[in-house]
Amino acid sequence: MAATSSGSRISNSNGEGGVMRIEVLREKCQGHARCWAQSPDIYGLDDEGYILPGDIDVPDERKRAAWLGAKSCPERALVIHDEGETSR
Ligand code: SF4
Repeated sequence: MAATSSGSRISNSNGEGGVMRIEVLREKCQGHARCWAQSPDIYGLDDEGYILPGDIDVPDERKRAAWLGAKSCPERALVIHDEGETSR
């Protein structure tokens, strides 16, 4: 299945506290597109439905959506780094 998205990634580089970072382990991605289905504004996919490379900075107001998307990944390709804690 090919899912596409041209969704732009959220980033927050103002240096303020409270920023969540999603580490993208692209080599683990199998193109399920579940992350994108949960949060298309955060998780962009390429033309073949694989997550775009590069880590994602998520502002406070989108943390829950980012968390849901990361937790929906069956390959654990999205690692959550938030306030000193790491989870997949
Ligand atoms: S849910 Fe996981 S495996 Fe599927 S596209 Fe997103 S990162 Fe890749």
